[in-house]
Amino acid sequence: MKRVAIIGGGITGLTAAFRLQQQGIPATLFEATNRVGGVIQTVRDGEYLAECGPNTILETSPLIGEMIADLGLEGRRIYSSEQAENRYIVRNKRPVSLPNSPLSFLATSLFSLRAKARLMAEPFIRRAPADEEESLAKFVRRRIGSEFLDYAINPFVAGVYAGSPETLSVREAFPKLHALEQRYGSLILGQILGGRARKREGGVSKKNALKFSFDQGLGTLTDTLGQRLKKQIRTDQAIREINRQNDSWSLGQAEEYSGVLLALPAFRMAELQLTCESKPVSLAMLGDIHYAPVASVVLGFYRQDVEHSLDGFGALNPEVEQLHSLGTIFSSSLFPGRAPLGQVLLTSYIGGLRAPHLVSKTPDELCELVMADLKTVLGVNGKSTYRHVFIHRRAIPQYDIGYGRFKTFMNDLEKSVSGLFFAGHCCDGVSLMDSIASGHEAAGRIANHLKKTD
Ligand SMILES: Cc1cc2nc3c(=O)[nH]c(=O)nc-3n(C[C@H](O)[C@H](O)[C@H](O)COP(=O)(O)OP(=O)(O)OC[C@H]3O[C@@H](n4cnc5c(N)ncnc54)[C@H](O)[C@@H]3O)c2cc1C
Repeated sequence: MKRVAIIGGGITGLTAAFRLQQQGIPATLFEATNRVGGVIQTVRDGEYLAECGPNTILETSPLIGEMIADLGLEGRRIYSSEQAENRYIVRNKRPVSLPNSPLSFLATSLFSLRAKARLMAEPFIRRAPADEEESLAKFVRRRIGSEFLDYAINPFVAGVYAGSPETLSVREAFPKLHALEQRYGSLILGQILGGRARKREGGVSKKNALKFSFDQGLGTLTDTLGQRLKKQIRTDQAIREINRQNDSWSLGQAEEYSGVLLALPAFRMAELQLTCESKPVSLAMLGDIHYAPVASVVLGFYRQDVEHSLDGFGALNPEVEQLHSLGTIFSSSLFPGRAPLGQVLLTSYIGGLRAPHLVSKTPDELCELVMADLKTVLGVNGKSTYRHVFIHRRAIPQYDIGYGRFKTFMNDLEKSVSGLFFAGHCCDGVSLMDSIASGHEAAGRIANHLKKTD
């Protein structure tokens, strides 16, 4: 059996390589940098533990539990503390608990009486035509009103996409929301009826899913995958060309492969020189998938220098509040072992589509901007005891209006070019769980392809 080439050593490529290894299918993984993990990068600095990229995995599918068991990592997984269910949204520069029950919704000061009354009308709003592609902002204004857009959806979208509801496509970026309207005619009715259906099928909603990391951060997962795949991984190998000739693939080197998986950011896929039977096939259009830049600013403080109780997951900053940062995760409240005793660790994100220019600032300037927000919102008074800044110039792909053409392009190429596969955050969803599922499913498609062609 010929080997398979996997290009990209982020969580998507690693998952695919691991699943193929388990099935006895030989694969070589090529990674451009000197380490695997992609945007997942944990930095242990004495008693501080900083995440440069993602912080938590949301367990919305059994796939991740299975992989953790197969890797022998069950004992090292840590679920976030119960208080992480509490989330704050900033209103009038103060953090307000996001309501999590009908009663707390009625009592909350996060939304005005008018906004609450407007929500009650939601089941009576007509659904949009199925073929109309709406922005998330237009969808939310139409169904539940502009105050929910400003104080619920806008900060939420900053937290997930670092993006803008004005440009994200509701159908592409939030397909479940779109489907609720199309299927039930109402988000509220859909939540109730859809929840019952999900229960019957054994699925878990994002709201109810558990969040976790590992004792040494998310890097534990990618480092362990890296160790398991050690002999198959080639780091410092940026692939530039891919050629298919007579059912055989090569990457500008002597080795031949029976298939190639692209598990790369879209802007890197776009740069690849692909030829099929000596004819060039351009991937350049994938370079038009827009990425939001994000800087993560991790700061440590003495506990007594922070007025807020930090009893939650974190606080998100709506754009209308005009703060510098997108929000802050209370990292040391979520998981133990993130800061020395008597100190706390806070992870703030800055930039995004709201203020992309900010990621060009120096780490000192970024820390200053974040410190100003932390002082206003959480009452942080003292100096930081620890800091780590990491800048992602192209962090998260935006599933904007018109994104569907990119997805169709990748799907069509996979169908028409035998042995070429696509996976990862630019095609199957932007969360870690999406990337893990994407790598897992790509391994399944590759295994089927090999069965057919052997
Ligand atoms: C700041 C930030 C915070 C996030 N927070 C969360 C969170 O808390 N929870 C969550 O669920 N998700 C979060 N996400 C999203 C999630 O981390 C990503 O969607 C996921 O990790 C993407 O994995 P990937 O393997 O598809 O891509 P990547 O991690 O980008 O990996 C792609 C790999 O390909 C390599 N590569 C590039 N070009 C080449 C080439 N030519 N040849 C070989 N290799 C190449 C790169 O070096 C990289 O290692 C966050 C993302 C960011 C950026």
